[in-house]
Amino acid sequence: NSTGNYIVTLIPGDGIGPEISESVKRIYRAAGVPIEWESVSVTPVLKKGKTAIPDEALNSIMKNTIALKGPLATPIGKGHVSLNLTLRRTFNLFANVRPCKSIVGYKTPYDDVNTVLIRENTEGEYSGIEHTVVDGVVQSIKLITKEASERCARYAFAYSKDIGRNRVTVIHKANIMKLSDGLFLEACNEVARDYPDIEFDDMLLDRACLHIVQDPARYSDTVMVMPNLYGDILSDMCAGLIGGLGLTPSGNIGRDASIFEAVHGTAPDIAGKDLANPTALLLSSIMMLRHMRLYDYADSIESAVLQTIADGKHLTRDLGGKATNTEFTNHVIESLPKIK
Ligand code: NAD
Repeated sequence: NSTGNYIVTLIPGDGIGPEISESVKRIYRAAGVPIEWESVSVTPVLKKGKTAIPDEALNSIMKNTIALKGPLATPIGKGHVSLNLTLRRTFNLFANVRPCKSIVGYKTPYDDVNTVLIRENTEGEYSGIEHTVVDGVVQSIKLITKEASERCARYAFAYSKDIGRNRVTVIHKANIMKLSDGLFLEACNEVARDYPDIEFDDMLLDRACLHIVQDPARYSDTVMVMPNLYGDILSDMCAGLIGGLGLTPSGNIGRDASIFEAVHGTAPDIAGKDLANPTALLLSSIMMLRHMRLYDYADSIESAVLQTIADGKHLTRDLGGKATNTEFTNHVIESLPKIK
């Protein structure tokens, strides 16, 4: 745009969403990140009698191709589609990236977790094809296509290269699901040929779970890639090892746009009280900065956030401290490296 800034769509979201989004905005302003936020609301509107995301929000994401999103409250009741699902379908968000890294200063049973997991986000058991064959017998179709598998695999290899990991590990059950997981594995194998400098191996899902809880460091030099259901479960398991969903970032990479978001929900119990921890949204925004190749800004904000947590003096209540979101944010700003 005319100011030379990148324009990014910001969906503040519901509950604590606006508070943690404000924290990100303040820190970005202080760090001098060349981003202009285009704030949009995704509060559903009625379109032809059905709830839908407002056009203004859809157009903004379509135009900017990058968005940062706060948590959205899923409306309860019939006839509502999940907004998260709608965004995934509208922008063809085909891969979900979930890194989980132990955070110094936040003690959990493990202190050496550093996993990166990429989940195919559009098909598998979640393709939504189910029917009753006869009373008492249902069938649910696990759909795997070469196209979606290959697209996800290709992103995993490119991402591995980008973040300086030299290995990709596909997680599967092709020993049992010979055709479906077999096809996913085959697609990964084919893509691997295009990346001769990246090692490629595979691991059975059950074995991978066992390894990760026994010795997570075994997976700290690789990018794991897997079909939808396995990724859904394994990514939450990895988050559990670093202390739960509260600190976990994620990125949804798509054909038409990419949307970065915290994994936690709207935390209605603490909304509006300045008690929320903005870390997960901040870490998601740091993934976004790296996606945009703004590496220096990503590094300096990341170091300020991690240093603030390691310090232990300005922790929010979820981390055992007494600080408000505002106090935590102020400290992150004070900790920004003075390079800009
Ligand atoms: P939640 O993550 O909102 O809350 C679980 C617990 O964690 C609460 O005690 C909450 O106070 C705490 N918590 C969560 N994030 C926190 C933060 N940043 N700082 C401090 N504490 C935090 O999960 P829930 O209660 O099951 O869901 C509430 C709403 O959020 C529901 O409407 C749900 O549909 C929605 N949700 C949205 C998303 C999303 O948009 N990606 C994800 C999960 C849940």
